[in-house]
Amino acid sequence: MELNLTGKVACVAASSRGLGRAVAERLSIEGTRVAICARHGEDVRKAAAEIEATSGNPVLPVEADMRRKEDIDHFIASAVQKWGRLDILVTNAGGPPSGPYSAFDDQAWLEAINLNFMSTVRLCYAAIPHLRATGGGRIITMTSISALQPLNNLILSNAARAGVHGFVKSLANELASDRILVNAVCPGPILTDRMKDLFAAAMKQHHASMEEVQQVWVEQIPLGRLGSPEEFANVVAFLASERASYLTGAFIPIDGGMHKGL
Ligand code: NAD
Repeated sequence: MELNLTGKVACVAASSRGLGRAVAERLSIEGTRVAICARHGEDVRKAAAEIEATSGNPVLPVEADMRRKEDIDHFIASAVQKWGRLDILVTNAGGPPSGPYSAFDDQAWLEAINLNFMSTVRLCYAAIPHLRATGGGRIITMTSISALQPLNNLILSNAARAGVHGFVKSLANELASDRILVNAVCPGPILTDRMKDLFAAAMKQHHASMEEVQQVWVEQIPLGRLGSPEEFANVVAFLASERASYLTGAFIPIDGGMHKGL
Protein backbone atom coordinates (compact mmCIF):
# COMPACT_ATOMS: atom_id res chain seq x y z
CA MET A 1 0.00 0.00 0.00
CA GLU A 2 1.42 3.38 -1.02
CA LEU A 3 1.16 5.81 1.93
CA ASN A 4 1.76 8.97 -0.15
CA LEU A 5 3.68 10.64 2.67
CA THR A 6 6.41 12.03 0.41
CA GLY A 7 6.80 15.78 0.77
CA LYS A 8 4.55 16.08 3.82
CA VAL A 9 5.74 17.92 6.95
CA ALA A 10 5.36 16.35 10.40
CA CYS A 11 6.08 17.40 13.98
CA VAL A 12 6.71 14.41 16.24
CA ALA A 13 7.02 15.43 19.90
CA ALA A 14 9.33 13.85 22.51
CA SER A 15 11.25 11.88 19.92
CA SER A 16 14.97 11.51 20.67
CA ARG A 17 14.32 7.88 21.62
CA GLY A 18 11.58 5.31 22.19
CA LEU A 19 8.16 5.42 20.54
CA GLY A 20 8.49 9.03 19.36
CA ARG A 21 11.78 8.33 17.66
CA ALA A 22 10.47 5.17 15.97
CA VAL A 23 7.51 7.16 14.60
CA ALA A 24 9.79 9.97 13.38
CA GLU A 25 12.05 7.44 11.66
CA ARG A 26 9.19 5.61 9.94
CA LEU A 27 7.67 8.88 8.67
CA SER A 28 11.09 10.02 7.48
CA ILE A 29 11.70 6.75 5.63
CA GLU A 30 8.30 7.26 3.96
CA GLY A 31 9.53 10.62 2.61
CA THR A 32 8.10 13.03 5.20
CA ARG A 33 10.13 16.03 6.40
CA VAL A 34 10.08 15.56 10.17
CA ALA A 35 10.77 17.93 13.09
CA ILE A 36 11.70 16.11 16.30
CA CYS A 37 12.24 17.42 19.82
CA ALA A 38 13.43 16.53 23.31
CA ARG A 39 14.70 18.42 26.35
CA HIS A 40 18.40 17.95 25.70
CA GLY A 41 19.79 19.55 22.54
CA GLU A 42 22.65 17.10 22.12
CA ASP A 43 20.35 14.04 22.26
CA VAL A 44 17.87 15.46 19.78
CA ARG A 45 20.58 16.56 17.32
CA LYS A 46 22.20 13.10 17.47
CA ALA A 47 18.83 11.41 16.86
CA ALA A 48 18.08 13.72 13.92
CA ALA A 49 21.45 12.96 12.31
CA GLU A 50 20.91 9.20 12.73
CA ILE A 51 17.39 9.30 11.26
CA GLU A 52 18.59 11.43 8.33
CA ALA A 53 21.40 8.93 7.67
CA THR A 54 18.87 6.08 7.56
CA SER A 55 16.16 7.77 5.50
CA GLY A 56 18.06 10.26 3.35
CA ASN A 57 15.41 12.88 4.15
CA PRO A 58 15.82 16.10 6.18
CA VAL A 59 15.08 16.00 9.92
CA LEU A 60 14.88 19.17 12.03
CA PRO A 61 16.04 18.83 15.66
CA VAL A 62 14.49 21.27 18.16
CA GLU A 63 15.35 21.50 21.85
CA ALA A 64 11.97 21.73 23.61
CA ASP A 65 10.45 20.66 26.92
CA MET A 66 6.85 19.51 26.57
CA ARG A 67 6.12 20.89 30.07
CA ARG A 68 6.60 24.46 28.78
CA LYS A 69 4.10 26.26 26.53
CA GLU A 70 6.74 28.54 25.03
CA ASP A 71 8.89 25.53 24.03
CA ILE A 72 5.88 23.83 22.43
CA ASP A 73 5.03 26.95 20.43
CA HIS A 74 8.68 27.24 19.37
CA PHE A 75 8.77 23.58 18.27
CA ILE A 76 5.78 23.90 15.93
CA ALA A 77 6.84 27.35 14.68
CA SER A 78 10.35 26.06 13.84
CA ALA A 79 8.99 23.35 11.54
CA VAL A 80 6.61 25.74 9.79
CA GLN A 81 9.33 28.36 9.43
CA LYS A 82 11.69 25.81 7.87
CA TRP A 83 9.30 24.07 5.50
CA GLY A 84 6.39 26.50 5.11
CA ARG A 85 3.59 24.10 6.02
CA LEU A 86 2.42 21.43 8.46
CA ASP A 87 0.51 18.24 7.59
CA ILE A 88 0.94 15.93 10.58
CA LEU A 89 1.20 16.38 14.36
CA VAL A 90 2.13 13.47 16.60
CA THR A 91 1.85 14.36 20.31
CA ASN A 92 3.97 12.62 22.93
CA ALA A 93 5.79 13.34 26.22
CA GLY A 94 7.49 11.42 29.00
CA GLY A 95 5.35 9.36 31.37
CA PRO A 96 4.32 10.49 34.88
CA PRO A 97 5.68 8.62 37.93
CA SER A 98 4.06 5.38 39.04
CA GLY A 99 2.43 4.95 42.47
CA PRO A 100 -0.93 4.69 44.27
CA TYR A 101 -3.23 7.65 44.99
CA SER A 102 -1.75 8.11 48.48
CA ALA A 103 1.71 8.83 47.00
CA PHE A 104 0.68 12.05 45.26
CA ASP A 105 -0.14 15.54 46.45
CA ASP A 106 -1.69 18.49 44.65
CA GLN A 107 1.62 19.47 43.06
CA ALA A 108 2.24 15.96 41.68
CA TRP A 109 -1.23 15.98 40.07
CA LEU A 110 -0.62 19.38 38.48
CA GLU A 111 2.73 18.19 37.13
CA ALA A 112 1.21 15.03 35.60
CA ILE A 113 -1.62 17.01 34.01
CA ASN A 114 0.86 19.57 32.69
CA LEU A 115 3.13 16.86 31.23
CA ASN A 116 0.57 14.57 29.62
CA PHE A 117 -2.68 16.53 29.24
CA MET A 118 -1.61 20.16 28.76
CA SER A 119 1.25 19.23 26.41
CA THR A 120 -1.30 17.57 24.11
CA VAL A 121 -3.68 20.53 24.31
CA ARG A 122 -0.89 23.06 23.68
CA LEU A 123 0.63 21.10 20.78
CA CYS A 124 -2.80 20.98 19.14
CA TYR A 125 -3.48 24.69 19.68
CA ALA A 126 -0.08 25.53 18.16
CA ALA A 127 -0.52 23.18 15.18
CA ILE A 128 -4.19 23.57 14.20
CA PRO A 129 -3.89 26.99 12.46
CA HIS A 130 -1.13 25.55 10.25
CA LEU A 131 -3.05 22.32 9.52
CA ARG A 132 -6.05 24.47 8.54
CA ALA A 133 -3.84 26.58 6.27
CA THR A 134 -2.62 23.37 4.61
CA GLY A 135 -6.25 22.44 3.91
CA GLY A 136 -6.41 19.48 6.29
CA GLY A 137 -4.12 17.07 8.08
CA ARG A 138 -3.67 14.55 10.82
CA ILE A 139 -3.32 14.75 14.59
CA ILE A 140 -2.26 11.54 16.31
CA THR A 141 -1.94 11.63 20.09
CA MET A 142 0.08 8.97 21.86
CA THR A 143 -1.61 7.92 25.07
CA SER A 144 -1.52 4.44 26.64
CA ILE A 145 -3.56 1.31 27.12
CA SER A 146 -3.94 2.75 30.65
CA ALA A 147 -6.48 5.24 29.24
CA LEU A 148 -8.66 2.33 28.05
CA GLN A 149 -8.09 -0.04 30.95
CA PRO A 150 -6.53 1.59 34.04
CA LEU A 151 -3.30 -0.15 35.11
CA ASN A 152 -2.41 -0.84 38.75
CA ASN A 153 -0.12 1.66 40.45
CA LEU A 154 -0.40 4.18 37.59
CA ILE A 155 -3.16 6.50 38.81
CA LEU A 156 -1.56 9.65 37.37
CA SER A 157 -1.23 8.14 33.91
CA ASN A 158 -4.68 6.48 34.05
CA ALA A 159 -6.40 9.78 34.87
CA ALA A 160 -4.39 12.29 32.82
CA ARG A 161 -4.54 10.18 29.66
CA ALA A 162 -8.28 9.55 29.98
CA GLY A 163 -8.60 13.35 29.89
CA VAL A 164 -6.63 13.36 26.63
CA HIS A 165 -9.19 10.94 25.15
CA GLY A 166 -12.01 13.37 25.99
CA PHE A 167 -10.05 16.14 24.28
CA VAL A 168 -9.32 13.96 21.21
CA LYS A 169 -12.95 12.97 20.72
CA SER A 170 -14.15 16.58 21.02
CA LEU A 171 -11.46 17.82 18.67
CA ALA A 172 -12.23 15.10 16.10
CA ASN A 173 -15.85 16.29 15.97
CA GLU A 174 -14.94 19.96 15.79
CA LEU A 175 -12.18 19.65 13.17
CA ALA A 176 -13.79 17.13 10.79
CA SER A 177 -15.17 19.93 8.60
CA ASP A 178 -11.58 21.24 8.23
CA ARG A 179 -10.50 17.77 7.02
CA ILE A 180 -8.26 17.42 10.09
CA LEU A 181 -8.51 13.85 11.38
CA VAL A 182 -7.74 13.28 15.06
CA ASN A 183 -7.01 9.87 16.60
CA ALA A 184 -5.28 8.43 19.66
CA VAL A 185 -2.90 5.47 19.67
CA CYS A 186 -2.75 3.53 22.93
CA PRO A 187 0.43 1.46 23.36
CA GLY A 188 0.52 -1.60 25.53
CA PRO A 189 3.98 -2.77 26.63
CA ILE A 190 6.40 -1.91 23.83
CA LEU A 191 10.07 -2.67 24.29
CA THR A 192 11.59 0.85 24.30
CA ASP A 193 14.61 2.11 26.28
CA ARG A 194 12.21 3.30 28.99
CA MET A 195 10.71 -0.18 29.33
CA LYS A 196 14.21 -1.70 29.41
CA ASP A 197 15.11 0.71 32.25
CA LEU A 198 11.93 -0.25 34.14
CA PHE A 199 12.67 -3.96 33.67
CA ALA A 200 16.27 -3.49 34.85
CA ALA A 201 15.00 -1.76 38.02
CA ALA A 202 12.49 -4.56 38.65
CA MET A 203 15.22 -7.20 38.15
CA LYS A 204 17.28 -5.53 40.86
CA GLN A 205 14.36 -5.07 43.23
CA HIS A 206 13.05 -8.64 42.92
CA HIS A 207 16.39 -10.40 42.24
CA ALA A 208 14.78 -11.76 39.08
CA SER A 209 15.96 -12.43 35.53
CA MET A 210 14.86 -10.31 32.54
CA GLU A 211 12.65 -13.21 31.36
CA GLU A 212 10.94 -13.44 34.76
CA VAL A 213 10.30 -9.70 34.90
CA GLN A 214 8.92 -9.57 31.35
CA GLN A 215 6.74 -12.61 32.00
CA VAL A 216 4.51 -10.52 34.31
CA TRP A 217 3.47 -8.51 31.22
CA VAL A 218 3.74 -11.22 28.61
CA GLU A 219 1.20 -13.48 30.33
CA GLN A 220 -1.43 -10.71 29.99
CA ILE A 221 -0.82 -10.37 26.22
CA PRO A 222 -2.65 -12.77 23.88
CA LEU A 223 0.11 -12.49 21.25
CA GLY A 224 2.52 -13.71 23.94
CA ARG A 225 5.26 -11.10 23.56
CA LEU A 226 6.03 -7.41 23.93
CA GLY A 227 5.68 -5.15 20.89
CA SER A 228 8.53 -3.44 19.08
CA PRO A 229 8.74 0.35 18.52
CA GLU A 230 8.73 -0.36 14.76
CA GLU A 231 5.39 -2.23 14.99
CA PHE A 232 3.95 0.74 16.86
CA ALA A 233 5.34 3.24 14.33
CA ASN A 234 3.85 1.34 11.37
CA VAL A 235 0.32 1.94 12.71
CA VAL A 236 1.01 5.63 13.32
CA ALA A 237 2.39 6.04 9.78
CA PHE A 238 -0.80 4.53 8.38
CA LEU A 239 -2.94 6.91 10.47
CA ALA A 240 -0.80 9.83 9.26
CA SER A 241 -1.28 8.84 5.64
CA GLU A 242 -3.96 9.57 3.07
CA ARG A 243 -4.93 5.89 3.24
CA ALA A 244 -6.55 6.53 6.66
CA SER A 245 -9.02 9.04 5.20
CA TYR A 246 -12.22 7.78 6.88
CA LEU A 247 -10.92 7.34 10.40
CA THR A 248 -11.27 10.00 13.08
CA GLY A 249 -12.09 10.14 16.81
CA ALA A 250 -10.77 6.60 17.39
CA PHE A 251 -8.70 5.19 20.26
CA ILE A 252 -6.55 2.47 18.78
CA PRO A 253 -4.82 -0.02 21.08
CA ILE A 254 -1.45 -1.27 19.83
CA ASP A 255 -1.00 -3.89 22.48
CA GLY A 256 -0.93 -7.45 21.15
CA GLY A 257 -4.52 -7.87 22.38
CA MET A 258 -3.84 -6.90 26.02
CA HIS A 259 -6.87 -4.55 26.28
CA LYS A 260 -9.75 -6.83 27.25
CA GLY A 261 -12.72 -4.47 26.81
CA LEU A 262 -15.14 -4.56 23.88
P1 NAD B 1 11.25 6.75 26.28
O1 NAD B 1 11.74 7.20 27.60
O2 NAD B 1 11.94 5.63 25.59
O3 NAD B 1 11.20 8.01 25.30
C1 NAD B 1 10.61 9.22 25.72
C2 NAD B 1 11.07 10.35 24.82
O4 NAD B 1 10.45 11.54 25.29
C3 NAD B 1 12.57 10.61 24.89
O5 NAD B 1 13.01 11.05 23.63
C4 NAD B 1 12.69 11.72 25.91
O6 NAD B 1 13.85 12.51 25.71
C5 NAD B 1 11.43 12.52 25.58
N1 NAD B 1 10.91 13.31 26.68
C6 NAD B 1 10.64 12.93 27.95
N2 NAD B 1 10.13 13.95 28.66
C7 NAD B 1 10.08 15.01 27.82
C8 NAD B 1 9.67 16.37 27.96
N3 NAD B 1 9.21 16.85 29.12
N4 NAD B 1 9.76 17.18 26.88
C9 NAD B 1 10.25 16.73 25.71
N5 NAD B 1 10.65 15.47 25.52
C10 NAD B 1 10.58 14.63 26.57
O7 NAD B 1 9.68 6.42 26.51
P2 NAD B 1 8.66 5.61 25.56
O8 NAD B 1 8.62 4.20 26.04
O9 NAD B 1 8.92 5.92 24.15
O10 NAD B 1 7.27 6.25 26.03
C11 NAD B 1 6.74 7.41 25.41
C12 NAD B 1 5.39 7.72 26.05
O11 NAD B 1 4.50 6.60 25.86
C13 NAD B 1 5.46 7.93 27.56
O12 NAD B 1 4.51 8.91 27.93
C14 NAD B 1 5.07 6.58 28.12
O13 NAD B 1 4.53 6.69 29.42
C15 NAD B 1 4.03 6.16 27.10
N6 NAD B 1 3.82 4.71 27.06
C16 NAD B 1 4.84 3.88 26.74
C17 NAD B 1 4.61 2.51 26.71
C18 NAD B 1 5.70 1.54 26.37
O14 NAD B 1 5.49 0.34 26.51
N7 NAD B 1 6.85 1.97 25.93
C19 NAD B 1 3.34 2.00 27.01
C20 NAD B 1 2.31 2.89 27.33
C21 NAD B 1 2.57 4.25 27.34
